[in-house]
Amino acid sequence: MKPTIAVVGLGRMGSALARAFLAAGYTTHVWNRSPDKAVALADQGASVAPSVAAAAAADIVVVCVSTYADSDRLLRSPEAAAALRGRLIVQVSSGSPNQAREQAKWAADNGTSYLDGAIMATPNFIGEPGGTILYSGPRALFEANRPVFTALGGNPQFVGEDVGHASALDLSLLAQMWGALFGQLQAAAICQAEAIALDLFEEHRQAFLPVVEGATVDLIVRIRDRRFAADAETLASLDVHYGAFSLFLQLCAERDLADLGSKAQDDLFRKAIAAGHRQDDFAAIAQFLR
Ligand code: NAP
Repeated sequence: MKPTIAVVGLGRMGSALARAFLAAGYTTHVWNRSPDKAVALADQGASVAPSVAAAAAADIVVVCVSTYADSDRLLRSPEAAAALRGRLIVQVSSGSPNQAREQAKWAADNGTSYLDGAIMATPNFIGEPGGTILYSGPRALFEANRPVFTALGGNPQFVGEDVGHASALDLSLLAQMWGALFGQLQAAAICQAEAIALDLFEEHRQAFLPVVEGATVDLIVRIRDRRFAADAETLASLDVHYGAFSLFLQLCAERDLADLGSKAQDDLFRKAIAAGHRQDDFAAIAQFLR
C-alpha cells in the first residue's frame, strides 16, 4: 500500500513536489497559506486540506515553506502537533544544520519521525531522472520510504544519520556555487570595463573550464590529505597565484570596479604568506579559514 502524502507549502517548489507525487499515483493532500495556489493542484487530483492539522493526518508530511521558523508556526500548533504524532515529517524547506537538529529533537519529543531534506534542484528538475534531493536522519526511515523519494526525482541521496548533514552539504554546495556566480559577475565587469564582448569571454571561459576543474579537484584532495607544502604535483604556488591576484586587484582599482569579496581573499593570501607559505601550494590557505 502506498503511503498517503501531504505537501504543506505550495510555492514554486512545493507545487512541483505535489505535482510529482500526483504523477506517481500517490494520494496527495495539499495545504497552503494562500489558498489560491492549491486550485491548480486540486484540478490535477490533489485533495485540498482545510488546515495544517488536517493535512498532518497523512502518513508522510512534506513541508516546503520559506523558512523553518514559518514551518514551526504551522506544525507546532497544538492541533497540528497532535495530528503529527506517529507520522513522518520530511522537512525540505531550506534551513541550517542546527535548525535541522532542533527540528528533529522537537519531532522526537512529539512522537513524530523526522527526516531532513535539501533540494539540490530547481522546480523543473522535480520528478525528473536528474532531480537530486539530499536526506539525513535515521537511515531506516529513508530506506523504508525510498520509493516516495524517488517520485520526487531519480537521484534521492542519503547523506548521513546526523540530521544536520543534508543542510550542511546543501550550504557547502551553494557556497561553491556563489563563489562561481560572483566570480562570473566580477569577470563580466572586467570585460565590460575593457570593452571585451561577453560572447568572446564566454567562448574562452568554456575553454578554460578544464583548467579550473582540475585545480578544484586537486584542491579538495590536498585539503582532505592536508598536503599543503609544494610538491611535484603542485600546479601553481601561492606566490604565483598571488602575483596574478595582485594584478587583478590593480585592474579593479584602475577601473573602479566594486569589491566582490576580493578584500577578504587578499587578507587570506596575506595571512598565509605572513605565516611562511609563499612557496607552498595554494591549498595552504585552507589552514586560515577557521
Ligand atoms: P516560494 O515560491 O516563495 O514559496 C514560499 C512558500 O512558503 C509559499 O507556499 C508560502 O505561502 C509559504 N510561506 C512563507 N511564509 C509562510 C508563513 N509564515 N506561513 C505559511 N506559509 C508560508 O518559495 P519556493 O521556491 O517554493 O521555496 C520553498 C523552499 O524550498 C525554500 O526554503 C527554498 O529555499 C527551498 N528551495 C527552493 C528551490 C527553488 O529553486 N525554488 C530550490 C531548493 C530549495 P504563500 O503562498 O501563502 O505565500
